Formats: sequence, structure tokens, C-alpha cells
Amino acid sequence: MKRIYLDYAATTPMRSEVLEEMQPYLTEAFGNPSSIYSYGHEAKVGIDKARMAVARLLGAREEEIVFTGGGTEADNFAIKGVAFANRSKGNHIITSSIEHHAVLETCHFMETQGFTVTYLPVDEYGLVNPDDVKNAIIPETILITIMHANNEIGTIQPISEIGSIAREAGICFHTDAVQTVGHIPAHVNELNVDMLSTSAHKLYGPKGVGALYIRKGTRIVPLMHGGEQENNRRASTENVAGIVGFGKAAELTKLELEEEFTRITSMRERLIDNLVTNVNEIHLNGHPTKRLPNNINLTVDYTEGESIVLNLDLKGICASTGSACTSSSLEPSHVLVAIGLPQEIAYSSFRMTLGKWNTDEDIDRVSQLLPEVIANLRAMSPLYKKR
Ligand SMILES: *Cc1c(COP(=O)(O)O)cnc(C)c1O
Repeated sequence: MKRIYLDYAATTPMRSEVLEEMQPYLTEAFGNPSSIYSYGHEAKVGIDKARMAVARLLGAREEEIVFTGGGTEADNFAIKGVAFANRSKGNHIITSSIEHHAVLETCHFMETQGFTVTYLPVDEYGLVNPDDVKNAIIPETILITIMHANNEIGTIQPISEIGSIAREAGICFHTDAVQTVGHIPAHVNELNVDMLSTSAHKLYGPKGVGALYIRKGTRIVPLMHGGEQENNRRASTENVAGIVGFGKAAELTKLELEEEFTRITSMRERLIDNLVTNVNEIHLNGHPTKRLPNNINLTVDYTEGESIVLNLDLKGICASTGSACTSSSLEPSHVLVAIGLPQEIAYSSFRMTLGKWNTDEDIDRVSQLLPEVIANLRAMSPLYKKR
């Protein structure tokens, strides 16, 4: 049975070109980039090239890119680094209620460290209102962190507008762009951001490596103390092969971004159309147009999202109930609750996210199998019969 992978928001397979680029750095070019002999130099050259590729993808300068151990570390570094560096100026942070756990849990931690956090609400589509950001600013506000696009429902936020508000108020602005970099344009100057998090394994690179863009002049203290790597901003011997792979992935996604955007958006639209036409009482969550090209999040009344995902798995189709990080917990998704879905409806939701290796045949197959799966589940539901 050919498996169909529809969970690209959770992670992506690595491209073969990326693996090829990494291979020498795992074997013969094994040097420590801080060493002054030739082995070290080779490794350093690899890192420099990768830094250039990531900087280009983001429209940033090379010296503004700090490599990290992933998206979660980049988020932690941004929030803790700026909060602790600006403690004497203020102790207030603004974020949204639909952030990834990497941001939300870091903000919860900051509350135990003497900071106060405002968690802004979102509308029924998952949009943050820039006026709400403006109104939440107080003299003590030192950081605003709002994600570029949501990993569960795909809604893309008005980041550039929020960025202007932050800049006017002189407040540092961070965005978690892990879901957008490599998939839609995410240029730091167009977005008006001071910091931006990204992660290689969401754009066909390796796991365990990411980057934080830090605009020149931003006051921030390191998360990791030790050696002088990454311009004194992130101690520890660099993950050379991982960084090199990240660079290659960044270079390739930049080249293909427009073409893939169009191809994947049209597959997404076709799948949504097919499902909405062939299944009754099914609803799309998130914004109809301000959404990631690859994201489909659906509520199917009288079913459980988890049953849909398990039954799809039996047919070789990998979907998800939402965030990979909460799929083992019994709590309904904080994002679906924030857009106003009642708890029991939130349980009836699931997510499909498309990517590079999906084809039109995949869309045909899912369009055929999914209505069958839903019909079978509803046939077992007394509530569906009684409705
Ligand atoms: C995946 C993801 C992260 C975490 O990135 P890791 O590299 O897995 O630590 C953070 N934010 C968002 C929006 C994500 O989708």
C-alpha cells in the first residue's frame, strides 16, 4: 500500500540534496569550526555558506542569524533573552492565545520570574486584531511575540501591521515563523520584525537545527553560556552538518517557493472543494484566504478527530488531530477553543497539511477515501442518526 503523508506541518522528510550536502560534514570534514587548522576552517566555511543562504531567504544580514537547536530553542532564546536583557525597563510581554507551546509555555515560565503576560484573544478565524495589540501596550511592555502563521489552523497574522505598531512604540517584536519560512514570503523588513524564529525540519531540512534572526541593535542576553560560538550568542560547538543541511534546504526552498506555493494551494483548494461537496456537516477551521497554502483543518460533526486519523492510518493516510505536541494529551486544542469552538466540537476536528511529495493522485485518493471513513464512523454514531 502506498502511504500518503499529509502531516507536513508536524515535520517534513529531508530532501536528498540536503543529505548529500551534509554527508561530508559528518565524515571527512569533521573539524571543530573554532579550530585554527584546516579541518576547522572547512567546517567554518560550511557554516558561513549556510548562514548566507538562511539570511537570503529571510532578507536579513548574515550577522543577524544565530543558529539554534531548533524552533523551540529559537522561541525560548527570543523571549527569555529579550525579557532578561530589558528587565530594568519593564516586565510586560504581549502574546496571543494561539501561539505554539514553545512560545506559550515560555511565557507561562516568565510569569513565574516576575513578568506579566497579556494573552490576546483571536477572532473566529484565528486572527489577532492589531488594535488589540496597540491597546495592550503599557509603559512596562518590553516584548511583543505573535506567530506568523498558526500550525494548527494555518491562519496568517497581520504581522507587518503589528510590527509597525511595535516599532512606533519602541517595543521589540518577535514572530514565530516556523510554519511560514520556505513556504510563503517571510522577509524580516517587510514583516517589520526585530526577531524571527525558524526551524529546518519544517522546510525539508534536518531535525534539531533552527535559527533566530536578531535585528542589529536588539538588546538580548544569551540562553546558553559557555564558549564564544555564534558571535557570543549561542555557546556550544556548532551542529555543523545540521547547519549545512539547513542552508541547503533554505537555498532550495527559496528557488521553488513561488511554484510550490501555486501547486500546493491548488491541491488544497481541490481537496477542500471535494470534501465540502461530498460530505455534509463539515466545516473548515481558520481563515478562508489568509491561510497557509498547505493547511486544511476540518470539523466533521458527529465524529471524533482521533477516530478519523486512526481510520485514515489503516488506509495508509497520515493526518493529525492538530499539534503533534498535544496529540497524546486529552485536552482539546487551545487554538480551536480560542477561535470559539465548543469543547465537544473541537474534538471533532483534524488536520491535513500538504507538501512537496503530494501529487494530484493523492488528492483524488483522499477525496475518495475520506468520505467513506466519515460515513462509516457516522453509521456508528447514535447522535448522527437522531439528529
Ligand atoms: C514545529 C514548530 C515549532 C517547534 O520547532 P522545533 O524545531 O520542532 O523545536 C515552533 N513553532 C511552530 C509554529 C511550529 O510549527
